[in-house]
Amino acid sequence: MSDALMHTYAPLPVTFDKGDGCWLWDTEGKRYLDALGGIAVCGLGHAHPAVTEAICQQAGQLIHTSNLYHIAHQQALADKLTALAGMERVFFSNSGAEANEAAIKLARLHGHSRGIEKPTVIVMEGSFHGRTLATLSATGNRKVQAGFEPLVSGFLRVPYNDLDAIAAVAKNNQNVVAVLVEPIQGEGGIRIPDDNYLPGIRALCNDNNWLMMLDEIQTGMGRSGQWFAYQQQSDATPDVMTLAKALGNGMPIGACLARGAAAHTFQPGNHGSTYGGNPLVCRVALSVIDTIERKKLCERAASLGTRLLAAFGEQLADVEGVNEIRGKGLLLAIELDRPCAELVKIALAEGLLINVTANNVVRLLPPLVMSNDEATQLVEQLSTLIRDFLSR
Ligand SMILES: *Cc1c(COP(=O)(O)O)cnc(C)c1O
Repeated sequence: MSDALMHTYAPLPVTFDKGDGCWLWDTEGKRYLDALGGIAVCGLGHAHPAVTEAICQQAGQLIHTSNLYHIAHQQALADKLTALAGMERVFFSNSGAEANEAAIKLARLHGHSRGIEKPTVIVMEGSFHGRTLATLSATGNRKVQAGFEPLVSGFLRVPYNDLDAIAAVAKNNQNVVAVLVEPIQGEGGIRIPDDNYLPGIRALCNDNNWLMMLDEIQTGMGRSGQWFAYQQQSDATPDVMTLAKALGNGMPIGACLARGAAAHTFQPGNHGSTYGGNPLVCRVALSVIDTIERKKLCERAASLGTRLLAAFGEQLADVEGVNEIRGKGLLLAIELDRPCAELVKIALAEGLLINVTANNVVRLLPPLVMSNDEATQLVEQLSTLIRDFLSR
């Protein structure tokens, strides 16, 4: 292994060099069932023909020009995304963190335009919004922040899934301009809030003239069973929404969408990105959306998620050491009563790719194209591993 890489990650001892659907092959030819999909990125699985064709075709035509010129695929993608999300305008970035940076800058600019000198964004405990300075400051996890102080100011933190805490801030703070929240916390351990949480935030934002900003980077693009997780509830449409991960199925693209006043906040010179929304990534994202629509993958995520939850429930619900099995669509978690990071390595040896987050939560984010047979194999293999692990 090369020692020329900065040690930002501690990678597992495996190198993949081929993929197909829900399967990956390592350099020795061993096959793995991928229940993580590159951390919710490969919604269409690996080497999807529609994505491959879009990349090849567009690469042969035009990869990059500049946002100094009109880009037809960018405009088409903006039209498509705004229509799906009930939004008006989009800014394209290259990653999730950058999409959230755009949202935070937008909230600040919006606040200043209303005469608020120290605009403040309400953020949540247990949240994850990225690794740039502003987004790690917004993140509710000390491990992400430690050593990078001074943090960016202008964030006010409250517990997740606690409307009263947000209402209390509303009474005491005149500087708040926005609430930034994940509709389901991903890195935080697939934490699913009560059904009234997002509509409650919507109402508080309306009452206080705040922007409701949803980070759908992990939950978006069909994974929750709807295009965007907020669409599970009525009256939960945000003013600003961020996307990345599955939007490009592995091509680096992020998006910050907005409607109403927030859609008109940025003016030329306020924000930008050299690559953001270039012809190649936008062409690929269009093919991703088209495939999700044609193959009805939102519906598939919902039905497969229900099936997986039931199957894991049958296998593990009564097992001592399993705290909870929960999920929405293909965001699934098996929470244990003890730290279980080791399970990742144990599963890897068995040819299964999973993730452990928040210390004791087995997290599954399988491709939306997973078949019933693959799902059955996942449940049987993982349930056995978890039972063995817990009985040690
Ligand atoms: C992954 C993620 C991010 C950061 O995205 P990057 O592309 O890694 O910068 C932000 N928010 C959420 C909810 C995420 O899951």
